[in-house]
Amino acid sequence: MLQATNKAGDGRLQVVNEDQQFTDQLSNYLGKWGMIDKGFAYDVVAVFGSQSTGKSTLLNRLFGTSFQEMNESKRQQTTKGIWMCPSAYSSTLVMDVEGTDGRERGEDQDFQRKSALFSLASTEVLIVNLWEHQIGLYQGANMALLKTVFEVNLGLFGGGGDEANKAKPKEKTLVLFVIRDHVGATPMENLTATLTQDMDKLWDGLSKPEHLAEAALHDYFDLSFAALPHKILMPEKFESAVVELRKRFTDRSREDYVFQPTYHKRIPADGISFYMEGIWQQVLTNKDLDLPTQQELLAQFRCDEIAAGVIEAFSSSSKPVRKPVETGLVIQHLGAMMNDWLHIALGKFDKDASRYHTGVYQRKRSDLLTTLHASLLPLYLGQLKNLHKQISAQYVKDLTAGLKEPNYDFAKVVLTAHVKARADFQAGAKATKVDETSWTDEQELASLEEDLKVIADRLRADETKKMVNAIERTVRRHLVEPVEIAMSQPKPEMWDVILETYAKVLSEAEESYLSKAQGYNCSEEENDVALMSLRARTWLVLRRKLEEQASDATMRNTLRTAFEDRFRYDDQGLPRVWKPDDDIETAFKKAKDETLNLLPLFADIKPTNPKLAPSIPTPEPSFDADADPVSFDASTALNLLSPAKLVSLETRFKRDADAAYVEAKRSMVSSVAQ
Ligand code: GDP
Ligand code: MG
Repeated sequence: MLQATNKAGDGRLQVVNEDQQFTDQLSNYLGKWGMIDKGFAYDVVAVFGSQSTGKSTLLNRLFGTSFQEMNESKRQQTTKGIWMCPSAYSSTLVMDVEGTDGRERGEDQDFQRKSALFSLASTEVLIVNLWEHQIGLYQGANMALLKTVFEVNLGLFGGGGDEANKAKPKEKTLVLFVIRDHVGATPMENLTATLTQDMDKLWDGLSKPEHLAEAALHDYFDLSFAALPHKILMPEKFESAVVELRKRFTDRSREDYVFQPTYHKRIPADGISFYMEGIWQQVLTNKDLDLPTQQELLAQFRCDEIAAGVIEAFSSSSKPVRKPVETGLVIQHLGAMMNDWLHIALGKFDKDASRYHTGVYQRKRSDLLTTLHASLLPLYLGQLKNLHKQISAQYVKDLTAGLKEPNYDFAKVVLTAHVKARADFQAGAKATKVDETSWTDEQELASLEEDLKVIADRLRADETKKMVNAIERTVRRHLVEPVEIAMSQPKPEMWDVILETYAKVLSEAEESYLSKAQGYNCSEEENDVALMSLRARTWLVLRRKLEEQASDATMRNTLRTAFEDRFRYDDQGLPRVWKPDDDIETAFKKAKDETLNLLPLFADIKPTNPKLAPSIPTPEPSFDADADPVSFDASTALNLLSPAKLVSLETRFKRDADAAYVEAKRSMVSSVAQ
């Protein structure tokens, strides 16, 4: 079967055979001819015209091909079908149509119509080959056939009935009239004008599909003209005219170069076989010969290809910002940039792909948009993350600056900075968003606000700690001196005085904290913790001061002072000068006993008014209670001096007192001696 399809060896291929079968060897041959990898860099030309008008001869001369020519002397029959052969001069596929000699007219017309339709639909340039003397004979068989072919072509390939396709004609085809046996008697312009008129008339007379009623000839075809001298009568002139004409097929720099990009069917070379076979099948089954399937397949192929190109360009334009975003930089105007890339990419896609089947094009466009959006999403999310970081850092700075202001209100400083951070983030996120996406900054915003809260909380904890420290200093100032005074001049109500002061200082401290804490928006729990620590610290200040006052040296001093106050000063507070008849013994004993009576006061913290008894606070959580178990243990916290300590203090005091007595005696003796 394959052999039957190809009867001519490798030089040319019978694309469609006499049984109207399409070859399965086309790709194979395109490979052999070195065309399969050409992509779009190839062209297709076909010929149309009556039998035996020198078409094959023309093609062979023009392109160096090897189509069968009718030999004048032998008049041997050529092989019917559509033939293809590569040009020897450029990457051009040349198609020749061989019909029968008109003997079996009905059958031949059918084949001619089909092959003409096929040629028209698959080539960039259709050579209409005709004798000079055929021109103007509008009723000639040529024109009738051309009319039919145009008509079916318009119905077939003229564009769908849908709105989008209506406005966009398919690729144009160049119709190149080659006037054979041009004698030169009639100027070229006249022939050209006549042919153009004929074509216009033909076009007007077409029965067009309703939606293409307004379609103009020039929406679909460009017309061009060439003339060749008589081959037999003027062989040299014919040859040189052919060489000249060939340039129009090979020399891109010429203005009349025929393979203009607008004519290209944009089928990649490796898709030619598939595409042409599809067209042939459509032509064969032509009733009204709609080509949606063929068009859709092609559209899918092309749209994918165009999209791939667009995506590649898109990726390379977005590449320079990906690294910086990854490394944590906030890119200015990122949203505008991304919108620009999208705009450019879609513009490119629209320009190239919108010519294809509308449904497919639109579907592929939305696929493309999805892909592009997906590739931008990481940039958006990255930018949000970076914004988050940047704004958190700025928030810390804003807070720090706000807390340096005199008389700042912590809650207000935090609120102002928070509102600003939130607004900055939202503005940044908005400026990064890409149009027509449902991207949202909600999650990142929530996470940012959580972080801001943590930062503010930490800062507030620092601030309250500072505040508690400051209050503790005030406590020390207000507590230490009264305690020292009370302890150094012991009286029975000593503890009442001390504990009253303690209660007052503590309540002042608590009040001071609570009034200051209002500005910090502290939670109740935080307040509780702060107050607890304040109570513990105030208690420790008291307790340590009491211990200091109860130390051996201080106690000895306190007792001696108490004794001396009684023994060496009189009731008016004047120093006594002992005289020989003074009763030193009684005075001494009284002062000593009174002083000794004071000593037990120091045993325990014990006011005469039981209501003043202090409650022992719990130590601060951060406080190492083991380091000072006495102060916070209910069983020991109110004990100051142990019985043993009291005994040793008493002994020492007695010795001090005795010494004072001896000294007093001696001073009296010496005053008598004077
Ligand atoms: P086709 O059937 O259109 O392909 O015609 P062919 O190329 O097979 O040629 C048909 C006949 O026309 C042959 O006998 C050719 O020698 C002859 N022929 C070819 N070119 C010319 C030409 O330019 N002028 C004339 N008058 N005859 C030609
Ligand atoms: Mg021929």
